[in-house]
Amino acid sequence: MKIVDVKAYPIRIENNPSESSSSDKGKEQDSDQSFGGESDRPPIKDLGDHYIDKTNYTSIYSKFHQTTVVKVETSDGIIGWGESQSPVSPNTTATIIKDLVNPLTINADIFDVEAIWNKNFTAMKERGHYTGFYIDAISGVDIAIWDAIGKTLKLPTHKLLGGRHRDSIKLYNGIGGRDPKKVADMALSSIAKGYKAVKLHLRENMEGTIEIVSEVRKAIGDDIDLMLDVHMMFNTHEAIRLGRQLEKFNVYWLEAPSDPNDIPGQIKICQALDIPIANGEWTRTKFEMREIFEKRAYDISMPDIARTGLTGAKQIASIADLYNIPVAPHVGGGGILSVAATVQFSIATPNFLIMEHSEQGNKMKSQYLSHPFEAENGEFTATDKPGLGIEIDENALQSFIAKPSL
Ligand SMILES: [Mg+2]
Repeated sequence: MKIVDVKAYPIRIENNPSESSSSDKGKEQDSDQSFGGESDRPPIKDLGDHYIDKTNYTSIYSKFHQTTVVKVETSDGIIGWGESQSPVSPNTTATIIKDLVNPLTINADIFDVEAIWNKNFTAMKERGHYTGFYIDAISGVDIAIWDAIGKTLKLPTHKLLGGRHRDSIKLYNGIGGRDPKKVADMALSSIAKGYKAVKLHLRENMEGTIEIVSEVRKAIGDDIDLMLDVHMMFNTHEAIRLGRQLEKFNVYWLEAPSDPNDIPGQIKICQALDIPIANGEWTRTKFEMREIFEKRAYDISMPDIARTGLTGAKQIASIADLYNIPVAPHVGGGGILSVAATVQFSIATPNFLIMEHSEQGNKMKSQYLSHPFEAENGEFTATDKPGLGIEIDENALQSFIAKPSL
């Protein structure tokens, strides 16, 4: 069954500040804060549609929910949907798909999905494009092809990725903020919605981090899993010192403690601490993972399916399994197709641990769905719906397409 068309739609959705959606942010999530307001948050530098933290070098963030939605059409009229995670500049990803991935993919047979990934990957490898935007672009198309295969065979995608390893997917809800009491309240409201696990996104110094973790643990008690993402804030020695202090709060994992490019540093942190180190939302292919897994630089691997594709994530998870490394897929600021693809991956992955989710952002991300796709009681449930298990409302989607930047 031939692919006759590949389209990419850069998406931009207004972010409701009271329902902050992008759980990969880490510092601007107090629910009463809006962009630019006077508060206890670090000063931020306004870059128009984007902003950065003025006080130190951190990620650039969008004031909007942004992503790239991909549509693949087959010769039998089947439509598959995918997503390339694009928290900033979805026009870049969409242009790569239109100019490069489209001509390499048109006329291919959908059942050659891994061969298509390989052809696309190798097409730009010699020029050094083996990660970043180019792999994001390939990954969105890959997810759309897996959706089209499922719809063609009338099977859920997880049945094609190895089958159903579990009937439900445990989620953790991502929250953040700077005021310990407010963060603890957000954790409690997550628990009230049925979550058994919450993750804190913090960008504090060591004392500030410990203060918030302590307040949250006190509020939620001992039966809830508590993860902590510190967004690469520390150097190796600080990370070890922090990790030792966190042990008494029974932190489930410490995520991204320092610069991930420093693989020897990651190894040192993993070896020094009893708390598992979770890492890897920025890695995109199995080729990036060999040294990390061989040297056990991560205790928990966090592939982001809208950056790896389902093909790439399956490969990464299989290699991780060789080393007894569990997989906790990252979703972060990904859109609703990213969420649905990650659910399919999680059902089909033997060494799956827990999936990231944003309870607060899910409704906003779902505005171009025909039917709601919501977690219940902190879980997604496996269904027999074909493909990714969701339907796109194309009219609604059109209303969120960003203006071309060129
Ligand atoms: Mg993270």
